[in-house]
Amino acid sequence: MVTKNKKPVIPIAEIEQSAFCQTDAKLVSKSLDEEFSSGVRWQKLPIEYMRMGPDELDVRIREARSKLGDQLVILGHHYQRSEVIKYADFRGDSFNLSQFAASQKQAEYILFCGVHFMAETADILSADNQKTILPNLTAGCSMADMAREDDVWDCWDDLDQVLGSDDKIIPITYMNSTAAIKALCGRNDGIVCTSSNASAAFEWALNRGNKILFLPDQHLGRNTGLSMNIPESEMVVWNPFKALGGHTTAQIKDSKLVLWQGHCSVHTRFTLAQINEARSKFPDVHIVVHPECTSDVVKAADSYGSTEYIKQIVKDSPAGSVFGIGTEISMVNHLAKEHEDKTIFCLDSVVCPCSTMYRIHPAYILWVLEGLTEGVVVNQIKVDSDVAAHARVALDRMLGLPK
Ligand code: SF4
Repeated sequence: MVTKNKKPVIPIAEIEQSAFCQTDAKLVSKSLDEEFSSGVRWQKLPIEYMRMGPDELDVRIREARSKLGDQLVILGHHYQRSEVIKYADFRGDSFNLSQFAASQKQAEYILFCGVHFMAETADILSADNQKTILPNLTAGCSMADMAREDDVWDCWDDLDQVLGSDDKIIPITYMNSTAAIKALCGRNDGIVCTSSNASAAFEWALNRGNKILFLPDQHLGRNTGLSMNIPESEMVVWNPFKALGGHTTAQIKDSKLVLWQGHCSVHTRFTLAQINEARSKFPDVHIVVHPECTSDVVKAADSYGSTEYIKQIVKDSPAGSVFGIGTEISMVNHLAKEHEDKTIFCLDSVVCPCSTMYRIHPAYILWVLEGLTEGVVVNQIKVDSDVAAHARVALDRMLGLPK
């Protein structure tokens, strides 16, 4: 039976997205107590940690780290604020970080300064004796939260019923999804992809089937489809709150690409008007954006690619280059600091970080580290073994993709 219309659910992380957007102040960490006054819903900590200022936090984090030595590795995603990223042993995108975690066999504890789905992936890829810890359990990802497991299974069942045996649809999930969604792909001949290998994953899927269900980011899916000459007329967007995703059976049968109705609240802030404004201020500007941006923004940019791609294109450019970047503000700030001989700015003049990445504050790091020095493990992320095994299948298929 086809599922009926459902009541829409908006992820809390998205409602809170604007909590830290600001136009007239620098983004500097305050005590956790003060940051809580923005009205966000973060994990509560003992009051001692909440009130601690940046200097004391810094001294105590360094002390706890040195006590833990090689037992601990700290990973930091590019989108983490600078007051957090400075403690990272390794900085990268979500997949690089998980691979790095898996290679650090000596480390019993992996402190993942990123968001929940990343810590889950690190847990899946790391050894059984390693413990992955997320400093703040409410650091989720609003995009990952948009693809709830029950809704995706309902969609999968509906597609199976509509398409029958005439078509073979392959599920692909972006790395930015829960372990449960990765497992669903693993169980159903599907694969995981990142923003750097999405085209290779599409090719892989179209060699095995004639349709793709892409989760959870419609924009990465659409941009990848367009780059592979799949016309928009052959794409449908699946609204999980409407019966049959809001389409007729004919529309589903005629489509090649079914895009889940998810998006990144950070990357969809970028607009054509911002690009036009940057070009009028800096005629030589190179506009580079992330493929989670909308397709009109990606088309108007000079280039687009993953965070690693953006990092590399800036690094490889000559001194004096000007870049208008369409990605998360902390990442743009890190690039501007590391390349002072270049002009680097964020296309969005309203400073708006990824609110969920921003939930990692040095106070959480200290709380976790001081616990570990006493043998107490808090906030461990442990994926159910059956889910992990199937998610691993989809991740391993991705690892087998041509580079
Ligand atoms: S930037 Fe977007 S996709 Fe990345 S963690 Fe934040 S909300 Fe999720």
